Amino acid sequence: MESDEEQKSVESRVAPPDLSCPKCNGLLPSKLGKIRCVLCDVEVNVEHKLTRKKWLEEKISCPACSTVLIAGVDDRPCHLKCSTCEIIFELKPHVKKVEIQCKKCDRKIRMNKRPGKRKISCPSCQEPLIIRF
Ligand SMILES: [Zn+2]
Ligand SMILES: [Zn+2]
Ligand SMILES: [Zn+2]
Repeated sequence: MESDEEQKSVESRVAPPDLSCPKCNGLLPSKLGKIRCVLCDVEVNVEHKLTRKKWLEEKISCPACSTVLIAGVDDRPCHLKCSTCEIIFELKPHVKKVEIQCKKCDRKIRMNKRPGKRKISCPSCQEPLIIRF
């Protein structure tokens, strides 16, 4: 069942704080270390000790046997091996969610917070909305 194991992953609950690009002021990708701004292509070095510490100490439930493990790795994504069932799974970066409101019908729409500009249409009234972070 190789393909089955490859799909096992857990999303980290810890994310670095929102940081804006020093050049274009846009939202930087939610990562640490060397990051490239997806908006203006500048490369910045971002460090956040508290996030690294939380990543290191984060408790993760094994996706196969539910044993609680301590991540022990201060980077995301990373791979962890369960000490009980010995599967290797991916610990993925946390995906930040935001709630925006349709300017026409006030419907609230939940979406992933990613840098850049996106055009969506409201699921209720089809109003085109431009989202920018
Ligand atoms: Zn930028
Ligand atoms: Zn396990
Ligand atoms: Zn709407």
